[in-house]
This record gives sequence, C-alpha cells and structure tokens, in this order.
Amino acid sequence: QLTGQLLSDRLSREAFERARAVIPGGVNSPVRAFLAVGGAPRFIARASGPYLYDIDGNELVDLICSWGPMLLGHAHPEVLAAVGAAAEHGTSYGAPTLAEVELAEAIIERAPVEQVRLVNSGTEATMSVLRLARGITGRDMIVKFAGCYHGHVDSLLASAGSGVATLAIPGTPGVTAATTADTIVLSYNDRTGVREAFARYGDRIAAVITEAAAGNMGVIPPGVEDGIGFNAFLADICREHGALFISDEVMTGFRVTRTGQYGIDGVQPDLMTFGKVMGGGFPAAAFGGRAELMQQLAPVGGIYQAGTLSGNPVATAAGLATLRLATPEVYAHVDAISAQLQAEVGAALSAAGVPHVIQAAGNLFSVFFVAGVTAVPDYATAATQSTQAYAAFFHSMLEQGVYLPPSAYEGWFLSAAHDDGAMNRIVSALPAAARAAAQA
Ligand code: PMP
Repeated sequence: QLTGQLLSDRLSREAFERARAVIPGGVNSPVRAFLAVGGAPRFIARASGPYLYDIDGNELVDLICSWGPMLLGHAHPEVLAAVGAAAEHGTSYGAPTLAEVELAEAIIERAPVEQVRLVNSGTEATMSVLRLARGITGRDMIVKFAGCYHGHVDSLLASAGSGVATLAIPGTPGVTAATTADTIVLSYNDRTGVREAFARYGDRIAAVITEAAAGNMGVIPPGVEDGIGFNAFLADICREHGALFISDEVMTGFRVTRTGQYGIDGVQPDLMTFGKVMGGGFPAAAFGGRAELMQQLAPVGGIYQAGTLSGNPVATAAGLATLRLATPEVYAHVDAISAQLQAEVGAALSAAGVPHVIQAAGNLFSVFFVAGVTAVPDYATAATQSTQAYAAFFHSMLEQGVYLPPSAYEGWFLSAAHDDGAMNRIVSALPAAARAAAQA
C-alpha cells in the first residue's frame, strides 16, 4: 500500500503521447486531458472500491467516481455479478426485456415521474427531452442557465448574449447561430432575469431546463428567497406561462439523496433527465415525466425518439444492481464523509490562509478558490476563482495519491466505498496541498 510519495508517471506520459496521435487531445472527453490544471492525465488500468490504479502502478484515492456514477465505489462485487450474468445471456437484442421495465420502475419509484424512456447518455436524455418539450408545446425557445451543463446538445452549447433576456450566441464553432437563437441563457439563481425573459418571450418559451442543483460550475445549490427555492420559482413561472419545467438530475439523481435533488427541495418538475448512477458505470440514462407528456413520444405519439442500444441489457443490469444496493446506509455514509471532508478541507485552507468558499447540494460539494465573497450564487462569481490556486492544490493532492477532478469547476464525488483508510489518505494530504495553493 502506497502512502505519500507516488511512483513515476512515466507510463502514463508515454500513453498520453500515443493517445494524442490517434485521439484528439488524447482523450474521449475534454476535461480528462488536465488542460485546466496542466500536466499529463493518468491512464487508468483498473479500479477497486475507492481507488484507481494507474498504469504506472500508483494507487489513487478517487474523488471523481467517474464524474458521479460510482456511488457504490468501483468494481462492486454484486454489480459485477449482475453484469456478468446479464452479459452471459447476450449483450444486446434490439427487442424489449423485463429488466428495462424493472429499471423504469426503479426510477419511477424514486423520482417524481410516471413514465421514463431509457437512452444511452445524459446528452441524449437532454436532447430528447427538449425535442419532447418543443413538440408538446409547439414552441421553439428554451431557457437555460449559464454554467449549467446538460451535455453537448447543440442548442445547449450556448453562451449568454449581452444583457439578460437576450438570445444566446453559439458556445462553440459548429453550432449555428440559428440553433442558439432559440436558446436564452440566463444567470443561475437570478429571478429577475427569468421574469424578464418570460415578460418578453413568454408565449414562445417551450421549457426552462436547469440542473436540479448546479454541479458543473462547481456546486451551486438553488437559492432560497422568501422561503421559496429557485426550482419552485421556476416551476411556478413555467406553469403561469404554459412552459414546461425540466429538471436535469443526471448528476444529482440517485446520488445527493436516494431521490436526488427532489429529495431535498421536493419540487415537482414536468420533465426530468437522469443518468450516471442509474447506469452503474455503463452508458445508460433516461428522461421521464407525467404519462400524458411521455405518451407524446413515438410509438404512441408523434414525437420521434429511438436508439439501437437503448435499454441495453448489460447497462440495465448494472443500473438496477446499483439502485438496489444504494440503501439508506449508503447515502448516510456518503453524507457523513462528505460533511467530514468539507470540514477538513475548509480547516486546511483556512490554516494556510487560502480564501475559499465550500458549497454543497446534499453530499455533492465543491471548493471555490474565490476571495472576497461568502457565497457563489452563479457562474459569474464562480469564474472569479483562482484556477492557479486550484491547479497547485490539485497537483499536490495527486502527488500524495489523491485524484481530484482536474478542473476547479467540478464537484467532488465520494462513494460508499470511501472508508477510513481512503478518508485518512485524503485528510493527511490536505495541509501540504493547502500550502501549495497559498503559494500559487
Ligand atoms: N446533464 C448533467 C447535469 C450532467 O452533469 C451531464 C454530464 N456531466 C450531462 C447532462 C451529460 O451527460 P453525458 O456526459 O452522459 O452525456
């Protein structure tokens, strides 16, 4: 067992060179490339419980958990058994299975939806749910919030235009201005902006989509004003204007509580998206809502949506096993170690004199290296953080065997498998990492 000093990362560096020749940037999803923190990413050979093992043989405490899915930790024996048993019966049929029904039932039992459709990624879920919302309402416009990520759906890869309630501009080359002209990007937690947008475009807005709690600009929970949470506010204003309220629980669903962010604020959306935990580490995601809305989908309704591998039997088995094993004890454990880690991180940063704000949505939290504020309500504030301080903190933690998200804008993910050994490794690495951040 390694503690402290790691072995070299020579093999990872070599692998990264080889990867860059055949895969753009050497990675299949940009954040993995360490661009925000510098250096070469670790190539992973295997994972077990709370640990990743890179190809140089380093054992790293994993605080990414595959960006959320691995709520039970890596290679959980019962999940592996379910996966193995499913795979032995064939890996894809292109025909319905009972397991898909069971997974749909497991989701419906937890989240406030009456029907779901299974898809393969969070991106597919949000893309499909927007089509459904537009098809149902006969309207074109979508409201989203700056810093909320809903996958790489064209119309959602948009940046705010100048001023509130203006039409968005493409957030990346390859997305047309015509596509984002139907997207309005507002500031998260900004009710005035939302009111203004509805005042101006109320009869053209098909839906408001939001992360149930923002987790892709660091963690920013929905704010409460006069006793009314931001999600409840959004649900109300959508209802007033005949728009649909879409809660994206891809990240929070079945993670921040058994019932996701819904378990925290109890707001009933019209439509929802899910992913990550419900796939147990396989490509599975879903969208759902009231039956009358979901019935508008093909083959009952006219709004088309489909997928060769949707409801894949192996992914479905992994998801079902994961949800079944995600007992109240699992959530209680993750909640407790999350609270412990938040306190330890805060203490270490304070001791080193590093300005910071720690925010959480249930057990999902992140650390903002911001100065001069006590809370981070939106992307503009999140963007004031010192990414240099984060990079120094990140690399010190990595050198001490702790694998944090390689970006200051990400949540820290824990699992049921993070035991005392893993937690002690993290906690003992914090003081040196905090000092590194202070010097950055
Ligand atoms: N919505 C949210 C809230 C997410 O966090 C993500 C992924 N991080 C997505 C959608 C997209 O999911 P995927 O990466 O599976 O396409």
